[in-house]
Amino acid sequence: MQIHNLGFPRIGAKRELKFCLERYWRGESSQETLLAECRNIRKTNWQTQLDEGIEYLPVGDFAHYDHVLNTSLLLGIVPERFRHSSDDNELDLEFRIARGQAPSGCQCAASDMTKWFNTNYHYIVPELSAGLDIKVNASRLLAQIAEAQQFSDKVKPVLLGPVSYLYLSVAKDVEKLSLLPQLLKGYQQILTQLAHAGVSWLQIDEPVLGLELSQEWQQAFTTSYQQLDKGAVKLLLTTYFASIDHHLKLIKTLPVDGIHLDTVAEQTDVMNVIDTLPDSWVISLGVINGRNVWKTDLVSVYQTLLPLYRHLGERLWLAPSCSLLHSPVDLAQEQKLDAEFSSWLAFARQKCSELALLKSALINENSDAITLYSAPAIARRVSERIHNQTVQQRIGLLKPEDFHRKQAFSERKAIQQRELNLPLLPTTTIGSFPQTGKIREIRAKWRRGEISDQQYQEYIRGEIADVISKQEAIGLDVLVHGEVERNDMVEYFGELLEGVVFTQFAWVQSYGSRCVKPPIIFGDISRKQAMTLEWINYAQSLTDKPVKAMLTGPVTILAWSFVRDDLPRQQVAEQIALAIGDEVAELVANGTQIIQIDEPAIREGMPVKQSLWQEYLDWATAAFRLSAATAPSATQIHSHMCYSEFNDILEAIIALDADVLTVETSRSNMALLDAFEQQAYPNDLGPGVYDIHSPNVPDVDWMVNLLDKALDYVPAQRLWVNPDCGLKTRGWQETKAALENMVLAAKALRAKL
Ligand code: GLN
Ligand code: ZN
Repeated sequence: MQIHNLGFPRIGAKRELKFCLERYWRGESSQETLLAECRNIRKTNWQTQLDEGIEYLPVGDFAHYDHVLNTSLLLGIVPERFRHSSDDNELDLEFRIARGQAPSGCQCAASDMTKWFNTNYHYIVPELSAGLDIKVNASRLLAQIAEAQQFSDKVKPVLLGPVSYLYLSVAKDVEKLSLLPQLLKGYQQILTQLAHAGVSWLQIDEPVLGLELSQEWQQAFTTSYQQLDKGAVKLLLTTYFASIDHHLKLIKTLPVDGIHLDTVAEQTDVMNVIDTLPDSWVISLGVINGRNVWKTDLVSVYQTLLPLYRHLGERLWLAPSCSLLHSPVDLAQEQKLDAEFSSWLAFARQKCSELALLKSALINENSDAITLYSAPAIARRVSERIHNQTVQQRIGLLKPEDFHRKQAFSERKAIQQRELNLPLLPTTTIGSFPQTGKIREIRAKWRRGEISDQQYQEYIRGEIADVISKQEAIGLDVLVHGEVERNDMVEYFGELLEGVVFTQFAWVQSYGSRCVKPPIIFGDISRKQAMTLEWINYAQSLTDKPVKAMLTGPVTILAWSFVRDDLPRQQVAEQIALAIGDEVAELVANGTQIIQIDEPAIREGMPVKQSLWQEYLDWATAAFRLSAATAPSATQIHSHMCYSEFNDILEAIIALDADVLTVETSRSNMALLDAFEQQAYPNDLGPGVYDIHSPNVPDVDWMVNLLDKALDYVPAQRLWVNPDCGLKTRGWQETKAALENMVLAAKALRAKL
């Protein structure tokens, strides 16, 4: 039995990758230095995995920026606009594709970046076009294989497979699948070179097998794998994030040598898989969750595995469910968690050692060591720390009507209009205003205890007063307090909620050098105290215009956290929703008339398989409604989402039943509104009229034009005027100018109506 890993976090235990990349980008270090630092990260990773007992070391899992971009470069697939640069600096080419600029070479629009399946990792979308020009350059991968071979003679390169690569790319003016023959020529060259290099096993990742695939895409699998001549290289067809039970008929015909299954993402019938697939295949079982932070109860895994091991013997391999890219690096670094809490956790390094423990238990048929190891994981489930009677009672008492506002939108709208008396085409913003270096510094000082609570409060109040007066001067109709007290929209609430813990170093890569440190939801969630009331009250005391309170929604808090695994996600979402709902109620009791509950992450929480979307969307939208339902009809509930594709989840967006929904649309020229050709959006809508991702100040005509377009889909009585998203990353100068123009655009249009 072999134990192997699908990939190790590439950011380094202390985020070394982030820091060395950013130094290089700022021109503070040389390319040689960066490459040496990256080599060190790889070496440390291999050594760590070896130390913890991993046998087949992954190689090719490292990336300066992203592994999908690595695959493009390996194949020599470079978008047209990057090809004509005069220098041949490969590394800078990589960074220009990823971020539009690099120390050398011209600036160019970066390639798009999008979410890697249902994770919070983003990959660089390959851009393909007709006449796909492939120029394989495997030197980097081969060099890394040689590096890894210095650590072990068992190394297993990782390569994103041709079908998934094609599926995840965008193709301009050409049917994607028509490019497959060309692409396969490239993959063939890679395979041949790997065979020459003496590679025995290749991990070929085909995560799209977790999706439902059309006939054409299924055929692409058959074509690809039948055509590729793998020589002496054995292929481990690797899947993750979903079960592949629905594609077994297809998979069993593919000439590969083994398969890796994610056994934790979805229920999967492993015995059936084993029975169906050829009995020469290696069966690699992903039994350790690669996407959470919890110590595994190895005893129960052992019990499931033992009969399988007896049946499969050497054919059984063990691995994490997916690449450990999605786990934090090393628990040993955490200094501030108490001993009991730490004993519940396992990060990437610890997950590797769990595999070694399992293997030794299985081959010796002795579970003593894993019993000892797993005791805390079992103790966690019954720990008093994770259970809160009151919360559980509230969940138990929930009735269907708790998930709905009392009156229908049309009735609420009439009441709100009387209360708020807003003009036609009301103007507002999405919540945050520019966060200056000063603000971040003060927040950091306060956290370190260098300034007192009172000094901090005074400072925040000063900022709020400033934001309010600026908004009044600009002439906005619905104001916000500016979110100056928040570092991050999930962290802020996470820190104030019971049942959530923050680590010091549990970073995971989000994209490139950007890492996130998701909070850990470990227990029943409740609200200790009011979370936003003080700031909102203060902001409202300064103006006669309505101030819109800002909350983060339950689905987003869930999606951007590590979540306990002893409760269904739906129930955790309900608990968060109750806590947010308590805040809504308290805000209302204190006179707040408008409350925004942001849900930017509803879409990314969707399961990989489309057939599972509906079930998810049902509970996700219900959780949102639960958080909003404490609001009486007179309170206007806003929500915000910052992505523009929601054609396929339109029903769910409507099901949120927010009084006002603001969405990103300016970048797509209101294209998103096409969705409403099919079905009109019934409530108020604020399609963003300018892109906050750029410092450019949009002119009035441009916005009038966009609003005009929006009026084709949304009647003036239900149309709002706002930017695409929060203004946190912008400077004040452009923000002020852009918002002034936005107010002028609204006025110009009102005059025409
Ligand atoms: N209210 C948040 C802000 O303005 C929304 C952020 C988001 O959509 N991701 O910053
Ligand atoms: Zn947004």
